[in-house]
This record gives sequence, C-alpha cells and structure tokens, in this order.
Amino acid sequence: MLRKIYGDITVWPLCNTLSVGQGFDMVIEAGGIADRNWALCCNEFGGANHKIPGIMGGAMRSASPALEPALYGGLIVNRNGDRFMNEQFLSDRPLALGGEMALREGLYYAVLDQEMMDAVATVGIRGYYGNPEDWYVGSHGSVFYKNGENVVRADLPESVDAAVEQGWAAKGTLAECAAVFGMKNLEATVEAYNALCEAGQDTQYYKAPYLLHKLGGDTYYVFEYEPSIWSTFGGVKTDDYCRALAEDQSVIKGLYVAGVDNGSLYCSPYYENEGASLGIAYTSGIVAADCMIDFLNA
Ligand SMILES: Cc1cc2nc3c(=O)[nH]c(=O)nc-3n(C[C@H](O)[C@H](O)[C@H](O)COP(=O)(O)OP(=O)(O)OC[C@H]3O[C@@H](n4cnc5c(N)ncnc54)[C@H](O)[C@@H]3O)c2cc1C
Repeated sequence: MLRKIYGDITVWPLCNTLSVGQGFDMVIEAGGIADRNWALCCNEFGGANHKIPGIMGGAMRSASPALEPALYGGLIVNRNGDRFMNEQFLSDRPLALGGEMALREGLYYAVLDQEMMDAVATVGIRGYYGNPEDWYVGSHGSVFYKNGENVVRADLPESVDAAVEQGWAAKGTLAECAAVFGMKNLEATVEAYNALCEAGQDTQYYKAPYLLHKLGGDTYYVFEYEPSIWSTFGGVKTDDYCRALAEDQSVIKGLYVAGVDNGSLYCSPYYENEGASLGIAYTSGIVAADCMIDFLNA
C-alpha cells in the first residue's frame, strides 16, 4: 500500500508488519473515499537499509552504528549527489519534517570526511561542531548528549568495513565514493557546500551556522539510507463524528473510522508533538464509540 502512494521505494516498518491497509480497503469497498492527506511518522534514531542482513523492526536501532550519521546534521545528498534539504530537520525534527524530506527522495546519503569520522569516535558529533549550546539535540538528553556528556561513538569507524561489504557505504576519495553510488554531482555539491560553510551562512537551505563544517582531505565516507517509520497516517475521509463519507459527501450509515486509518484527522507532514499518533488514535476511538452508541440508541 505504501508503494501505491509513495512509489517504488523501501520504507522500513518499526511496527507491526501485519497491518497492511485492510481496514482502509474494506471501507473503500463499502463505498467510502480516501481523504487527501497521507503522511508517515519517521524514526528519530537514524537511517535504515535493507542491505543489512536480518535488519528488522526495533532491532534496526542497534543494527549498525553507521546508521546514526543520518542524524548528524552534516551534508546529506540524494541519489544524484545533490543537496536537497536543511539537514538540521533530520537531526532536530526527524519525525515529521526531516523524515518527510527523506521519504520524498526514497534514498538519501550522509557524507562524512575523515576529520568528522575521527571526531565522532573521539569527542562525539557535538564536539565536532564545537559543542554548540544552541543545538537542541546536541545540548539536551539525546543520542548525542547524555547525562551532561557528549556521546562518543568509538564503534563507528569499526563498523564501516561491514557496511561497505554489504553495499550501503563507500569509503575512498570523493570521486570513488560518488562512483560507487553513481552520483554525478557529488563533487560539485561538496565544493558548493564548502563555500557556504566558509561564508558561515547557508543561503541554500538556511541550516544553522553552528552545523556548517567544511569537508576535505583524501578520505570520505558515504552512507546510503532508506526511511523507516513508526506509523502511517491517512486513509478514509470522515466527518467530525468519525463517520465514513461516500463520494457525494453523504454519511455511510453505521460505518465509523478511528485511529490512523482515519484520513481526516492528520496532516502531511505529521504534526510534530510527541504522542500525536496515540493521542488521536485514542480520542478518535472514544469519539467513534460515543457516536456508535448514539446511532444504536437512536
Ligand atoms: C514502537 C512504536 C513506538 C511508538 N511510539 C509512539 C509514541 O511515543 N507516541 C505516539 O503518539 N505514537 C507512537 N507510535 C505510533 C502509535 O503507536 C500508532 O500510531 C497507534 O498505535 C495507531 O493506533 P491505531 O489504533 O490506529 O492502529 P493500530 O494500533 O495499528 O491498531 C490496528 C489493529 O487492527 C488489527 N488489524 C489489522 N488488520 C486486521 C484485520 N484484517 N482484521 C482484524 N484486525 C486487524 C491490528 O492487529 C491492530 O490491533 C509508536 C509506534 C510504534 C510501532
């Protein structure tokens, strides 16, 4: 069902893989229509890639330290090697904005140089950027900063060889890395990105200056990621009482839709406040049940 909506991309479920949209299909079969918003709540702990053997669900979190650079706020490119987003949205707001942008590309790539790799393994990604107080995820409890200290990923460099072997990472000169993934524009993108870093101002996507750090040297690392998600949103069009609507906007008698398959409760991208999915799932269930009782008693 995701492929029908988003095209032929791989989206990793961190949830029940048995939920495949049957509830939605049933309502459509009964004469209901879809509302127009489809969104996903993307994950906030890194990228994913189906090339990692056995990768699945929540275990994705620990599948490889090399999944984490998706969130480092450094250069992210698409399959052409073009920059396409303010990378801070992936580090700071991955559930909605950052995730949505990654989703639109289907595949996205983090680009690191040796300096960045060494820094992450010794002083942490927060240390690499000079411990910016203004960086929310780098200054509050997060995967980068815990118990008042930078999180150091000494295991990241060790994980690169396996990722290269599995086919979702490249190590070498920039040209060699670009060739592995067939990116025509990577070298030009790094040059342009470095110019923004030198100017201290991201006039392309307006990332905060404290995350602008030039890339250089002879050795680069490029990691390929696919989006992964906690939850889908979108589906059946309903009225305020969670009653399914037909094409002429009339109510389909006795048919109620609650939870994330109700397409009229969500927007795209997903709202960003934590708990919005469960909150709407619970409360729409209560609204739908109250309305069903009224219907049965009428
Ligand atoms: C690991 C994880 C962490 C999350 N954390 C948060 C969080 O912190 N905050 C938040 O707001 N949201 C969170 N979410 C998202 C949230 O849990 C879901 O959006 C919410 O549970 C959706 O509720 P629902 O009732 O619409 O659907 P579901 O909970 O998916 O319920 C659908 C039910 O339908 C059943 N079903 C499917 N097909 C059929 C069929 N053919 N016949 C009969 N039954 C069927 C399924 O078995 C399931 O029980 C998280 C999700 C995951 C996976």
